[in-house]
Amino acid sequence: MKGNLEEELLYAEAREVMRRLLDAGHEAYIVGGSVRDRLLGRPIGDIDIATSALPEQVTALFRRVVPTGLAHGTVTVVTAHYTYEVTTFRKESAYEDHRRPEEVEFIGDLEEDLRRRDFTINAMALDIEGRLRDPFGGRDDLERRLIRCVGDPETRFREDALRMLRGVRFASLLGGRIAKSTWRALLRQRETLRYVAMERVRDELWKLTAGSDPARGWAMLARSGLLRYAKEPLGALAGPAPDGWPRLLCALGAVDGPELRFAALLLGLAAGEAEAKRIVQALRFSGAQQDAVLGVLRAEERLAAGGEAALAGPGGERAWRRAYAEALYACGEDALRGWHACRTALAGVPEERLAPFLRDGEAWLQRIAVRRLPDIALTGGDLLQAAERPAGPWLREALEAAWLAVALGDVPNERDALRKYVEKEWNKE
Ligand code: ATP
Ligand code: MG
Repeated sequence: MKGNLEEELLYAEAREVMRRLLDAGHEAYIVGGSVRDRLLGRPIGDIDIATSALPEQVTALFRRVVPTGLAHGTVTVVTAHYTYEVTTFRKESAYEDHRRPEEVEFIGDLEEDLRRRDFTINAMALDIEGRLRDPFGGRDDLERRLIRCVGDPETRFREDALRMLRGVRFASLLGGRIAKSTWRALLRQRETLRYVAMERVRDELWKLTAGSDPARGWAMLARSGLLRYAKEPLGALAGPAPDGWPRLLCALGAVDGPELRFAALLLGLAAGEAEAKRIVQALRFSGAQQDAVLGVLRAEERLAAGGEAALAGPGGERAWRRAYAEALYACGEDALRGWHACRTALAGVPEERLAPFLRDGEAWLQRIAVRRLPDIALTGGDLLQAAERPAGPWLREALEAAWLAVALGDVPNERDALRKYVEKEWNKE
């Protein structure tokens, strides 16, 4: 996010780029997302420029350029502080596989260039004086928070199936809705989503979920059934809305960050860890993203199993605390904290096997002095010395027993005390 001054500089250097193009007799406009976001008063990430100049003309006019996508007409111009994608006005035709235009044709006319863009709110341009060019009524739609295709929606979705997901994302991010004819076209064309690479699906779902109103986007996704047609199966994420769906949607906005929101969604949809894993892999989440989401689902499975055991046994708070500490050991603190955040947001009546964890877990966690095995004041080396036997699986087991004893407050986290504790356990065997 850029501060005001920085944004002013971003615009000032964009105007320098445009000025040079204009002085050479070409046309130049700011186009696309930054025009939309400026009208909304939202922070601008980057500024794209459209021009009548051909790529080689753009290249010749600027000292520092990067030939980003020459075939598609895009040259990146590097200024003192920023970079700008400068793209020749173009027309796209003969879409291949419902995704990529087979041909782009350079044209001389801004309006034609705006016509190829997906939604009216994305099809506006600003000239160097800041005057708006808006041939398709984008500003009105923006004011009404209305997502409407430029031209015939069914044709536009048939050309490029990704637009359906983009439409849902923009409606969600704007807190708006999709125009009726655009929505109908989406329902008719939804099967073509299978032509879209899963990486693109991920990007759209990620932005939508990270935004200010994820519930709106996920409600639309469920209503449209769109995700059922993804190239790879998305399991519970694509299924029909379950019982308690409105409450689940509310929970999404109540947890922070897309990772936890996905975790809450999957928990609320009763996807187990195994199914969740298939889903996040299908969506090509990064390793870190997968870990964050799956950690929460793993914590739930661990806690549920521990809770069941506690219910089956003689009970008492100790059994629950022990199950909780074991889940902490197995899943880590982040996963448990994430689980608390998600389950709290999901509200509702908790299952019996989870209720004590939900009620007391965070207080227990606060009091547990160790988080991971290395946190205890006893090392494998200490134990090897004391035991006088070769290393083996027993070593880790002994350390884990010592960890749990500290976690439950049975033994202080001191080396001598821990060594004595382990020796006493050995003598019991
Ligand atoms: P954001 O960057 O916030 O995701 P954006 O609207 O800037 O939103 P980009 O992918 O950066 O999205 O695209 C820039 C512009 O290019 C869009 O505003 C739109 O005019 C056009 N555009 C992008 N993707 C498509 C598409 N699939 N079909 C038609 N036009 C598109
Ligand atoms: Mg953009």
